[in-house]
This record gives sequence, C-alpha cells and structure tokens, in this order.
Amino acid sequence: MQGFKSFADKIELEFGKGITAIVGPNGSGKSNVSDAIRWVMGEQSAKSLRGSKMEDVIFSGTQNRKPLGFAEVSIILDNSDRKLKIDFDTVTVTRRVHRSGEGEYFINKSPCRLKDIYELFMDTGIGREGYSVVGQGKIDEILSSKSEDRRHIFEEAAGISKYKYRKNEAEKK
Ligand code: ATP
Ligand code: MG
Repeated sequence: MQGFKSFADKIELEFGKGITAIVGPNGSGKSNVSDAIRWVMGEQSAKSLRGSKMEDVIFSGTQNRKPLGFAEVSIILDNSDRKLKIDFDTVTVTRRVHRSGEGEYFINKSPCRLKDIYELFMDTGIGREGYSVVGQGKIDEILSSKSEDRRHIFEEAAGISKYKYRKNEAEKK
C-alpha cells in the first residue's frame, strides 16, 4: 500500500499461513491495515472504514509531511488452488483513489470495474460482503440481526450467493 491512511510511504506486508498478529501502540496503524484489506476488496462505505468520505483514506499529511494525492492498495493472493475462478496462480487486486474522487480497480494490472472485483470474490467468503474480516462488534451484529440478514452469511458460505446475484442481474435486463 501507498498513501493509504497513515501509510504515506510504500510498504509491503506479508501474511503467511496460519495466524498473523499485528501489535503496536495505540494509533500506530493496526486497524488501518485491516481497513486497507477491506478497502482493496471493494468496501464502499466510508463510515465502515472509519471516515466520513472516501478521500479520507488518502494520507492527509502530518506536521512535517504534505498530504498525498492518491491512495493505492494491492492484495496479492495465491490462487494455485483456483479458489478464485480465474485462471492464474497469483491474483493481484489493486484499488486506487484520487482526491478528485476518481477511483480505479485492476485485476492482475488490467483495469476493471468494481463489479468484476465483487464477482471475483463472490461465494469465497472473502471480499466486501464476506465474513473473512470480522471486525469489532461483528459477532454481536450477526447474533442480533434479523434472520433474513443472518441468512446471507450462510448463503455466502454455502456458495449460492452468485446464483441469487445472477438471477437479480438477469431480471434487471
Ligand atoms: P488502537 O490501538 O487505538 O486501535 P491502531 O493501531 O488501530 O490504534 P489506527 O486506528 O489504525 O491505530 O490508526 C490511527 C492513526 O491513523 C491515527 O494516528 C490517525 O491520525 C491516522 N490516520 C488515519 N487516517 C489518516 C489519513 N488519511 N492520513 C494520515 N493519517 C491517518
Ligand atoms: Mg485499532
């Protein structure tokens, strides 16, 4: 990531197999790392990224450093098991946003639409509607939500979200 929230300089984080714990003092950017992961997978709600508008994810400067003009995050996924239905061993999803509000998405460096990212991750449990990122309060939300809302989680896990989605898309046409 580069220019994303508190990460002005380009940095790379590696998440291996098993558990990775991120530790650090308050305000050091731990939650910004999980925000970056949700953002690159297509999160559209600025509020859920703890901001009020999408530009809030762009590094806003410090006392001795100027604000940046854009934020960019890439997530590089091992796809050797073809869990993502795209015929590449490695899948890189990139999202960039400029201060003008203009946003760009890429899959393996080719420009694409948000819709393509959404469809890529659908039924995998990852992605913005997935349950792979469990934020603070999420468990309570699941337990107290309406049964229809809870059902979406099971549909994603069962791998049937895409059929519902395609039906909706087809009905729009
Ligand atoms: P805690 O332990 O309190 O949960 P944390 O390590 O999770 O802290 P974060 O919430 O990830 O910390 O980081 C907060 C920091 O990120 C704040 O210092 C805030 O100023 C900075 N920050 C957030 N958005 C931006 C931005 N757009 N530009 C620069 N800095 C930002
Ligand atoms: Mg935090």
